[in-house]
Amino acid sequence: MLADRFGRVATDLRVSLTDRCNLRCTYCMPEEGLAWMPREQQLSDDEVGRLIRIAVEQLGVTEVRFTGGEPLIRRGLLGIITAAASLTPRPRLSITTNGIGLERMAGALRDAGLDRVNVSLDTLSPVRFQELTHRDRHADVLKGLAGAAQAGLTPVKINTVLMRGINDDEAPALLQFALDHGYELRFIEQMPLDAQHQWDRHEMVTASAILESLAPFGLTPDSVSRGTAPAETWLVPGYTDAAGNPARVGVIGSVTRPFCGDCDRTRLTADGQVRNCLFATGETDLRGLLRDGKPDADVAATWRTAMWGKLAGHGIDDPSFLQPARPMSAIGG
Ligand code: SAM
Repeated sequence: MLADRFGRVATDLRVSLTDRCNLRCTYCMPEEGLAWMPREQQLSDDEVGRLIRIAVEQLGVTEVRFTGGEPLIRRGLLGIITAAASLTPRPRLSITTNGIGLERMAGALRDAGLDRVNVSLDTLSPVRFQELTHRDRHADVLKGLAGAAQAGLTPVKINTVLMRGINDDEAPALLQFALDHGYELRFIEQMPLDAQHQWDRHEMVTASAILESLAPFGLTPDSVSRGTAPAETWLVPGYTDAAGNPARVGVIGSVTRPFCGDCDRTRLTADGQVRNCLFATGETDLRGLLRDGKPDADVAATWRTAMWGKLAGHGIDDPSFLQPARPMSAIGG
């Protein structure tokens, strides 16, 4: 098991497949992009597959989420998913994507073994989308969402980051859009993980502010336990999801309502570093062990040690908080 000193056990593995992205979301990376990871530093498909196998077979991981950067641009994606889906016990497999190309790939992803998707969408306006992402791809994202639902990659979830004065007026419209299409919306508080280091605690849109703006929907508390999920969820009276269950909306209050005490995540970067927290300032190299020919048992033991050192909380509110050197796109969101 991937246990830590505070009694938490990590069973949810986030695997970043690349630090590259085809969008330039302003809260994530600069318009000109970043210095990408050299190819030789990136894990090969076989290396990623081996680490996922060790995590599932030896370390108790039951969920694998592929992310990045943009995971759909990873060439070997289908093979990596196929390999993960063939493991015993079979992990649940999902992907977090910006949705570009998803319409075309959704069927193949499902056939490879992917169970569901989270698609990031911060605005319903194509003009704003271009301002926010520096790319004119809004229609592709909407098509990607529809393609995922059609392929049965459900529940299709939407991730939204709201920013003051930019898109925070869109919370009700985004929820209405999700309800109308049977998607499940999750608002994520903006976190200090941007490459530009421009995050400002006083400027971010808080979970409370988001919930206030959703007041017209008359949200009611969700009686289903949140468990280790990062999102607090509410029911939206009068609506059902695509499967006929009561519709829900979630808020991930990573900054103002941290859930570190229930965290069950372990993270692997595209260059084979284990991170025991999104906000960790240190990481543990597994790629070196793989390339030095070490056996699975050594890799598993190193991964366990890395997780044992996980801190009790991310410490964003501590005066001594230091933003990690890697931006979100290079960690894997
Ligand atoms: N490219 C994929 C995508 O767009 O979903 C996966 C990677 S992206 C880093 C994963 C998620 O992190 C997205 O939903 C994105 O909006 C979110 N994200 C990026 N930077 C963030 C930040 N500073 N605070 C909160 N969420 C952020």
